[in-house]
Amino acid sequence: MATEIEAARQLMYFVCDEIDQKRRCDKEAAMVKFFASEMAERVTSEALQIFGGAGYTTLHAVERYWRDARLTKIFEGTSEIQQRIISDHLLGKPKAA
Ligand SMILES: Cc1cc2nc3c(=O)[nH]c(=O)nc-3n(C[C@H](O)[C@H](O)[C@H](O)COP(=O)(O)OP(=O)(O)OC[C@H]3O[C@@H](n4cnc5c(N)ncnc54)[C@H](O)[C@@H]3O)c2cc1C
Repeated sequence: MATEIEAARQLMYFVCDEIDQKRRCDKEAAMVKFFASEMAERVTSEALQIFGGAGYTTLHAVERYWRDARLTKIFEGTSEIQQRIISDHLLGKPKAA
């Protein structure tokens, strides 16, 4: 779990640096949004699992962390849309108007 979080963090830092250097990084920005969102759901789901049934209840904050992580796959560009941006770049498809 820590490794996945660190991998997402490092990719995010790379994208931030590209932006600071004023270089286009649409593909990499979509990659980090996609990877970090999917990763956050995996990691918080695993955290919930560690608590067992108690993790599903509102007695522990972990259920809220999982719900919040789940949302990141939906808002600010769904995971499917990020995948489309990435694949369009890889396939050299023209940008949407
Ligand atoms: C808690 C919450 C807060 C939000 N806050 C904001 C906000 O502050 N500002 C704001 O503007 N919006 C906000 N939204 C809206 C959010 O951005 C949309 O829910 C999101 O863009 C998805 O749109 P949709 O719900 O209409 O799903 P749809 O666009 O109907 O998509 C449904 C499913 O189809 C997939 N899909 C759609 N089109 C394609 C395609 N071309 N290729 C492949 N798959 C596709 C999607 O990935 C998704 O899985 C919020 C949503 C939630 C739940």
